[in-house]
Amino acid sequence: MDHQTTETFDQNAREALTDEQLRAALRNLVTTFGERRKVAITTVDDWEGLRERARAIKDETLTHLDKYLEEFADNAERAGARVHWARDAREACAIVLKLLRERACEHIVKSKSMATEEIHLNAALEAEGLAPVETDLGEWIIQLAHETPSHIVVPAIHKSKKQIAELFAEKVGIEPTDDVAVLTSTARRVLRQCFAEADAGISGVNFGVAETGTFLILENEGNARLTTSMPKIHIAVMGIEKIIPRLVDLDVFLKLLPRSGTGQRLTSYQSLITGVKKSVDDEGPEEVHIVLMDNGRSRMLSHPVTRQSLACIRCGACLNACPVYQQIGGHAYGSVYPGPIGAVITPQLAGIKKAAQLPYASSLCGACREVCPVKIDIPELLLHLRAEIAEGTTVGTADQKGPVKRKLSEQMAFRLYAFLWSHPSLYNLGTRVARLMQRTVMRNGHIGRVSGFVSKLAPPLGAWTASRDMRAVAPRSFREKWRDGLSGRR
Ligand code: SF4
Repeated sequence: MDHQTTETFDQNAREALTDEQLRAALRNLVTTFGERRKVAITTVDDWEGLRERARAIKDETLTHLDKYLEEFADNAERAGARVHWARDAREACAIVLKLLRERACEHIVKSKSMATEEIHLNAALEAEGLAPVETDLGEWIIQLAHETPSHIVVPAIHKSKKQIAELFAEKVGIEPTDDVAVLTSTARRVLRQCFAEADAGISGVNFGVAETGTFLILENEGNARLTTSMPKIHIAVMGIEKIIPRLVDLDVFLKLLPRSGTGQRLTSYQSLITGVKKSVDDEGPEEVHIVLMDNGRSRMLSHPVTRQSLACIRCGACLNACPVYQQIGGHAYGSVYPGPIGAVITPQLAGIKKAAQLPYASSLCGACREVCPVKIDIPELLLHLRAEIAEGTTVGTADQKGPVKRKLSEQMAFRLYAFLWSHPSLYNLGTRVARLMQRTVMRNGHIGRVSGFVSKLAPPLGAWTASRDMRAVAPRSFREKWRDGLSGRR
């Protein structure tokens, strides 16, 4: 999987389309989570009203993010936590490493966290001789396989039971079996030992409450609760957009996130952590550190269109609904954030020059916008990023900006298109020629599969019709009908 980067999306997608096992896993994901979500959203009154409220809370927070971040940091420190500020991935990793080194931590457990995936924290720690153990079952599986997550919520969705069984036999040393109970109890046995030995726990954060300095982690396996309560030291890595103003706001998000993500009314565990434990008899860590990470988020915040990217609550619903993700899965995107939200976040994090193909990985059908619990207009964001690419990007750090290299043939084609379509006489001539030419390939009013000489003449026509029909140019254009109407002809 290492060869799959954002820059090779085109090739990655083609390879994914030939992977039958992956396609079967994705069909299963879409039907299971998609159907469960449909049922789950009927269990709350006024789903649309909830979405509106969630978006309003996020908009309010993002408009005054500086104020809420300071409030969160003050209240968290008052409760005994230490807050650290990281401008980028490098600083965030350095802070975590320093904390672990200063406390001589050797055994480290981690719960699932997209923020730590984003900054490649495991690789940074491993490079310094530390070996953090992922404790979410899916994350542990992909850690053993040296892979990256292929979905925001279910990271190992691309793996079959057989592949997991083979992996466990090879890496954990058990007898080969595809008995799920044996596989899960093996994971529990190994991971429980890791929890018992852990000096430090690392997690992400679902929501940080400014009013109280509390952070919340949602999960289904209990591993996040063990990660945050058993080791003496806990480090939470949190994107600055995770803030919400008030504890009562959680009521809205706790109704939306599990229903949208996995079709659950509520996740099995919700861990709310406010500072350190207050007495020796309490549960919880003696030290809590919160790393508040920017890593490109301020740039997103500064533009009125891209700002809405920061409202994302990482539920994964847009992935499940996306016809592109449904076919190619997550690894093809070459980023820890796949699917529609990945196609807008990744170019903003990594720079458009590196991820220029991703905003085009969409048919703009709007399915992502329909299911998003915080009403993020992903198609609008995709179009905005495409415009940035066409006009010479302003997105990214200084070294990420600049014109994106496009294929010469594509540039020429679009220049020709723009020239023809901005001259009415040429446009009219073009439609007449197209009408004549299409006669050779038209069947029952549609253009079916185009091959042979015509496809060589116009390769995009051959590529488009290889898997779908194309609408034919109408026998008479609107202008012709309009003109005929004015002159009394029909
Ligand atoms: S963009 Fe919306 S649907 Fe997609 S992961 Fe974020 S919150 Fe969920």
